[in-house]
Amino acid sequence: MKIIRTIEDLTLEINAIKNSGKSLGFVPTMGALHHGHKTLVIRSVSENDLSIVSIFVNPTQFNNATDLDKYPRNLEADAKMLESAGCDYIFAPNPEDIYTADELKNRFEFDFGGLDTVMEGRFRPGHFNGVVQIVSKLFQLIQPDKAYFGEKDFQQLAIIHRMVETLKMKVEIIDCPIIREPSGLALSSRNQRLTTNQHKNAIEISKVLFESSNFVTKLSPKELSEWVIDKLNNVEDLKVEYFDIVDAKSLQTITHWTDNAVGCIAVFCGEVRLIDNFRYNHHR
Ligand code: AMP
Repeated sequence: MKIIRTIEDLTLEINAIKNSGKSLGFVPTMGALHHGHKTLVIRSVSENDLSIVSIFVNPTQFNNATDLDKYPRNLEADAKMLESAGCDYIFAPNPEDIYTADELKNRFEFDFGGLDTVMEGRFRPGHFNGVVQIVSKLFQLIQPDKAYFGEKDFQQLAIIHRMVETLKMKVEIIDCPIIREPSGLALSSRNQRLTTNQHKNAIEISKVLFESSNFVTKLSPKELSEWVIDKLNNVEDLKVEYFDIVDAKSLQTITHWTDNAVGCIAVFCGEVRLIDNFRYNHHR
């Protein structure tokens, strides 16, 4: 496995791969890798001749300086995990290699068609501008045949699909299911920041989401949202930022159950902001 640090070295490697005619899978990450990331990489390794993982804590998608500062970083442990997953290349650049001063300062513009004004976009203004900025840049540099994203970041995935469609990019986007701890808690790099007690309380998030599926025949989406929010706000350490039951494609709140309903949640557990989501369509 090769670790690439500069755009110049990356370009050399990508040109060689393209000339060899080999297929290339790509997994973009911000590092602090866990088993959820690893499953994306294992899938890429199984579906492509070569696989590359980027590790880049993208400053332009953070709207909170403390969150950016506190984001865990550990390239050595990440490299070990990626090697064991069969990854061929890591691309781990510095922000100043990726962005000009202007790009770091000014918001990247993209027509989201309304996908960015709800949920994460509402509470993290500019977040998805940064996501599209970095992913489009990495796609241009890496030119992957397939790119792997987790459904854990449900809204992000919907936006990536829109980006590829509207910009007519040639990459195929592969949606990968959420990987959870045995307790049900969705794996996240941010889980490292939870105390033992907070971790115990955070388990309630997925528990309540799963339990809520028992009520889809009895409650409207609005009533069920209220039930989830109320139940979680009563757990020590937890404060729900939003819970929206939306259409999986348009991401707009639904008032009646459909076959495409997904509940998306952001919860503060102490200082740590966690997200999760749950598809209701299989449970009606
Ligand atoms: P991150 O580094 O956390 O931004 O995530 C990099 C990629 O891994 C994104 O496509 C995430 O959706 C995906 N990912 C993160 N956590 C999980 C998880 N628990 N299950 C599945 N995919 C995940």
